[in-house]
Amino acid sequence: MTSVVVAGGSIAGLGAGVALHAAGIDVHVFERDAGSLSAAGAGLVVQPELSRLAEAVGGRTLPMTACSGRRYLGFDGRVGHLQPMPQQFTSWEAVHSTLLRSFPSDRYHAGASVLKADNRADGIEILVEGLGTFPADLLIAADGAQSPTRRALLPDLKARYAGYVAWRGTVPERDLPPQVAEFFDDTFTFTDARSGGHALAYFIPGEGLATARGERRMNWVWYVGADAAERDDLLVTKDGHRRRASLQRGMARGAVVEDLKGRAPRELHPMFARLVEATDAPFLQSIVDLDVPRSVFGRTVLIGDAAVIVRPHTAGGAAKAARDAMALADLLADPRVPTDEALARFEREQLTYGRDLLDYGIRLGRQWARL
Ligand SMILES: Cc1cc2nc3c(=O)[nH]c(=O)nc-3n(C[C@H](O)[C@H](O)[C@H](O)COP(=O)(O)OP(=O)(O)OC[C@H]3O[C@@H](n4cnc5c(N)ncnc54)[C@H](O)[C@@H]3O)c2cc1C
Repeated sequence: MTSVVVAGGSIAGLGAGVALHAAGIDVHVFERDAGSLSAAGAGLVVQPELSRLAEAVGGRTLPMTACSGRRYLGFDGRVGHLQPMPQQFTSWEAVHSTLLRSFPSDRYHAGASVLKADNRADGIEILVEGLGTFPADLLIAADGAQSPTRRALLPDLKARYAGYVAWRGTVPERDLPPQVAEFFDDTFTFTDARSGGHALAYFIPGEGLATARGERRMNWVWYVGADAAERDDLLVTKDGHRRRASLQRGMARGAVVEDLKGRAPRELHPMFARLVEATDAPFLQSIVDLDVPRSVFGRTVLIGDAAVIVRPHTAGGAAKAARDAMALADLLADPRVPTDEALARFEREQLTYGRDLLDYGIRLGRQWARL
């Protein structure tokens, strides 16, 4: 394997770029979005795969916050005891910018959409909008949950809606009332919601990826039941566009955000309601399940959310993306393993792991979300 093109420059795609580059493979990453991708990003629970990708492969330490335990609250104001359970947190932005610093800038092409790929006898030819065609030995499609590559290869495959959405928000720590910041400090906090669903909160790195007390960001997620019609309505932006799966910061309609803030004091523990109230621009993700029957199609391989979408309760989507990136790079860089065998082994291991995580997320959804 000598040359690889990656479609998608988020955690799976950029992670694959970093891992393949570290293994001495000629790789270019093409990312459709031209600007900063961080508008959609919020908190991530750190799993070993994420820090391994940043440290062992990329040679950099991930900016992280930490807590010493978990606490479970009730919507009626009940405050449970702190259960010792240390945990580290980061942000999507921190992971992405750390990986970006580990990757040569002339190999990361932002604002470059992969339009199509044609198999050839000796590899694959990839057409990139505005940049022309690139011959390669392999196309890694890390183009996310809405993967255009997957849609082209498996047009009949549809994601299954789980019946609820996740609202997310972040608030700079300095904008929180001091007693609210104090209340959430050093804990991974959960609360159930009166009508079903639950919410959770933890601190993540703040502006400039600062992790010191006072400079962090509070990150919260609130799972809310919505039938398919309600979900479709929530996904209409303030400009009247219907989005397929998520709203980034600032896209939600004013009335929808007001409704969410109005419901928070009735549904959530009072401290959580204050977090929702203090949030400028909550953003939304429709919760879906999806896995592909296969992920290797000749010299195209699907990784990350393009192949398997797991529920956020697993705290495993980003770690799965990192795992895919490292596993694929390891196999492709091994001179003893022919490329076809490397891809077949990758597909087997990736889909076994991904489907187990998918099932685990469905079980957690039933148990926790109560939706
Ligand atoms: C901006 C952003 C913020 C996120 N924030 C969070 C978060 O806070 N918490 C959390 O748990 N999960 C978050 N996620 C999801 C999480 O990162 C993913 O579930 C996981 O990391 C798997 O990532 P992925 O790289 O497979 O897919 P994604 O992260 O969805 O990335 C896919 C990328 O492919 C690009 N792309 C799509 N089509 C093309 C094309 N034709 N050509 C080139 N590029 C293309 C997209 O622009 C996107 O950057 C976020 C994802 C994104 C994109």
